[in-house]
Amino acid sequence: MGDIQNIVILTGAGVSAESGVATFRGPGGLWEGHRVEDVCTPEALWRQPELVHRFYDDRRAKLGTVQPNAAHEALARLDAEWPGGLLLVTQNVDDLHERAGSTRMIHMHGELTSALCASCGTRVPWQAPLPPGTPCPACQMAALRPDIVFFGEMPYHMDAIEAALAQADLFVSIGTSGAVYPAAGFVRTAKHHGAQTLELNLDPSEGSIWFDESRMGTAGTLVPAWVEGVLSS
Ligand code: NAD
Ligand code: ZN
Repeated sequence: MGDIQNIVILTGAGVSAESGVATFRGPGGLWEGHRVEDVCTPEALWRQPELVHRFYDDRRAKLGTVQPNAAHEALARLDAEWPGGLLLVTQNVDDLHERAGSTRMIHMHGELTSALCASCGTRVPWQAPLPPGTPCPACQMAALRPDIVFFGEMPYHMDAIEAALAQADLFVSIGTSGAVYPAAGFVRTAKHHGAQTLELNLDPSEGSIWFDESRMGTAGTLVPAWVEGVLSS
């Protein structure tokens, strides 16, 4: 891999599965027993704020009981040791990448440990439960909501992500089903700009045909092996 300078990595719920964090589409297509449209849309937040806030309160509380796994650790090692460009884009809203030590990273779908003011747009670090009607520390409006990008909302930092994809020599997708756009389209953008593309996933994702290479298995095994290979090449 002598010609690889810039690496862009996309991760999804599968990278945290071995830490005990449930993936999006669990049994019956539910996320922790909920239909996605009941907890991941602006309409749900408007109609049933208690349910939506409580759902993310539960996910946030769970963070205290889980630890980064070998995949998060290996990606943090790559971040620390890779001398070229590197950007880790995660769709995950958990904090396991940063707790493992990754720094060159973007949470494109928001973070459980952050609250967003629906009135003024201020973001505040948040660890406690977040009941509907919690006042914003900046504008005092009772408008704090979970800082999660719902379906139909614009993912964060798309400009920086597009710029990194345009410069990428290698694009690696890990533990994501490839069903949620725009993330599912990143492989095609990277490929269009000439990047090699590699997928590490339990089973072939929906966009599997776009990858030059697919390795099937668990992230906890595949990711450390891949990182070792990249760093020793
Ligand atoms: P997804 O649940 O749709 O897909 C997960 C993928 O990971 C599947 O293809 C599955 O085969 C694979 N997988 C499962 N276990 C694995 C393992 N041990 N090793 C490797 N791969 C494994 O998740 P997604 O594609 O990230 O979809 C997205 C949305 O769900 C995101 O927008 C995210 O915000 C949200 N979400 C986040 C979390 C989290 O933060 N941990 C958890 C659930 C859902
Ligand atoms: Zn505010």
